[in-house]
Amino acid sequence: MRAQEFIHLLKGVRHKGKNQWIACCPAHDDHDPSLSITEHQDRVLIKCWAGCDALSIVNSLGLTLGDLFHEKHDYTPPHAFAKREMAQRKQTQSKQEQAITFLSVVTAALKRGETVPDADIQRARRAKAFLEKHNVTGAA
Ligand SMILES: [Zn+2]
Repeated sequence: MRAQEFIHLLKGVRHKGKNQWIACCPAHDDHDPSLSITEHQDRVLIKCWAGCDALSIVNSLGLTLGDLFHEKHDYTPPHAFAKREMAQRKQTQSKQEQAITFLSVVTAALKRGETVPDADIQRARRAKAFLEKHNVTGAA
């Protein structure tokens, strides 16, 4: 939605300047308008000077953070990013674990004087490089 539409949902709206308004914050008992609304590029920026976060402000209007964009789109809350990062980290970790295991198997085989296929030595080198790149210490 546009800032023009957004301010229609608020009380005590005052025009402050180009693309800027101030209104009573719907998320707290606001008598002295403390919510500033700014239209910036493709979105509506809101800030409550009393400290309400954007999510509680839009929620109290029955909106979502996605409604603050001109083109409504699904907004991914920060905790979803954290989840994704965790999943990525997990993936990296298991790759590291695999690399460590593979490297130790090859190293042990070489130490025992076994013949290790070239392909496996190549793979072990790649695993070592991978671990060094990820600063994994203690790898063979
Ligand atoms: Zn507020």
